[in-house]
Amino acid sequence: MRADVAIVGLGPAGRALAHRCSRRGLHVVAIDPLPDRRWQATYAAWADELPAWLPAGVIAAAVTPRAWTTTEHLIDRQYCVLDTAALADALTLTGAAVVADRAVELTADHVVLDSGETISAATVIDARGTGAPTSAAQQTAYGIVVDAAVAAPALGGADALFMDWRPDNGVTHDRPPSFLYAVPLGSGRVLLEETCLVGRPALRLTELRTRLTARLAARGVDLTGDEPIERVRFAVEAPTVPRGAVGFGSRGGLMHPCTGYSVAESLNSADTAAAAIAGGGDVGRALWPIRARTVANMRAAGLRTLLAAPPEQVVPFFAAFFDLPERLQRAYLSGRQDASGTSAAMLAMLLRAPAPVRATMVRSSIGRQNARIRS
Ligand SMILES: Cc1cc2nc3c(=O)[nH]c(=O)nc-3n(C[C@H](O)[C@H](O)[C@H](O)COP(=O)(O)OP(=O)(O)OC[C@H]3O[C@@H](n4cnc5c(N)ncnc54)[C@H](O)[C@@H]3O)c2cc1C
Repeated sequence: MRADVAIVGLGPAGRALAHRCSRRGLHVVAIDPLPDRRWQATYAAWADELPAWLPAGVIAAAVTPRAWTTTEHLIDRQYCVLDTAALADALTLTGAAVVADRAVELTADHVVLDSGETISAATVIDARGTGAPTSAAQQTAYGIVVDAAVAAPALGGADALFMDWRPDNGVTHDRPPSFLYAVPLGSGRVLLEETCLVGRPALRLTELRTRLTARLAARGVDLTGDEPIERVRFAVEAPTVPRGAVGFGSRGGLMHPCTGYSVAESLNSADTAAAAIAGGGDVGRALWPIRARTVANMRAAGLRTLLAAPPEQVVPFFAAFFDLPERLQRAYLSGRQDASGTSAAMLAMLLRAPAPVRATMVRSSIGRQNARIRS
C-alpha cells in the first residue's frame, strides 16, 4: 500500500513532522533504525519560537539568560530548556506505521530499507540529520551536569549564561576562543558546557574539556570528576538530499548555520510541511518561499564570517551583536523567513562592529559572490 508520506529519521524533526501528519489523518510511515531511542542531547530554544500546539510540560526550565563578551549583556527574552523525554512523548505517533530499519535509498516516491523492503509513498521526507562529516563546518562542545549549588560560582548570580566569552578558560588570545554555555536543566541540575560555536575543523572535545576544567577551577567550582558528561559534535551545514526527496529538519536546511539551533524551527515548520503534504502541494516550495531562501543566503554569509574571523575578532563580533536592539537580535537568530529583519540586523552589525570585523564581514560576503560568478 502506498503511504501518503514516508519520513526517514525520527529525531526531533522527523518525529514532529510524523506527529503533525498523523494528527491530520495522513497515512504515515516513519523509518529509523532505533525509533524508540531516548534523545540524550540537551535541547533548548527561545520561548517565543515554540509552536502553540506544544504542551507546556515539555519545558524543563525557563530563564532570562545573560551573555558576556567584553562586558555583561542582559538578554530580554525568555529561553527554555526542554525536557527531551517529555518532548518525545508529546510527539505521539498514533496511527503512524513505525519501521525499525535503516533507509539505504530515497527517491521521490519510495524508500529502500536495509532489509531489502521497499516503501512507496506520495512524498518522501529526508530527516536524517546532518551527522558530523569532517568536510562540513561543525559545532563541538563538552559539558558536565552538576547540582545548582555547585554551579553557582560559575554563573555569578545569572539564571543562565547563553554565551560567556570571558577569557578565564586558560586560552591565549591567538587560539580560537570558546564560550561557556550554562543552563538549568530542571530538578536542581545545571549544564556547564564549553562550546566551540563553529569551526572547520571545530575545536576537539579534549581541548574543550581542558578549557572547561580551567574555567571552572578559576571560578571556584568544586568538581568530583564523576559528573555526567554531554559531548556535542554535529555539522551545521546540511548534506545533500537525494533528488526527489524533500529535506526536513537539520537535514533540510532548517538549522541556523551560525548557531546550530534547529529544534524549534523544525517543530514550527512541521505544520507547514504537513499541510503541503495533505494538500498534495510542493512541500519544498511551502518550506522555502523566496524570503526564506534569501535569509538562508544571508545566514550562509554569516557562517563564512564566523569561519573566517581570526581569534581576536570573535569576541568584538559578539559584543557588537549583543549590543543590537533586541528586535534585531531576535530577527537574526530566529527569523528564518524575516528577510528584512535579518538584513537590518546584518547592516546594523556592519555599522557597529570594529573596522577589522567589518572588513572580515565584507570579504566573506564578496568571497561568495566570486564563487557564484566562477560556478
Ligand atoms: C548534544 C547536542 C545538543 C544540541 N542542543 C541543541 C539545542 O539546544 N537547540 C537546538 O535547536 N539544537 C541543538 N542541537 C543541534 C540540533 O538541533 C540537533 O542535532 C537535532 O537533534 C537535530 O534534529 P533532527 O531531527 O534534524 O536530526 P537528528 O536529531 O540528527 O535525527 C536524525 C535521525 O535520523 C536517523 N537516521 C539517520 N540515518 C538514517 C537512515 N539511513 N535511515 C533511517 N534513519 C536514519 C537517526 O537515527 C536519527 O534518529 C544539539 C545537538 C547536539 C548533538
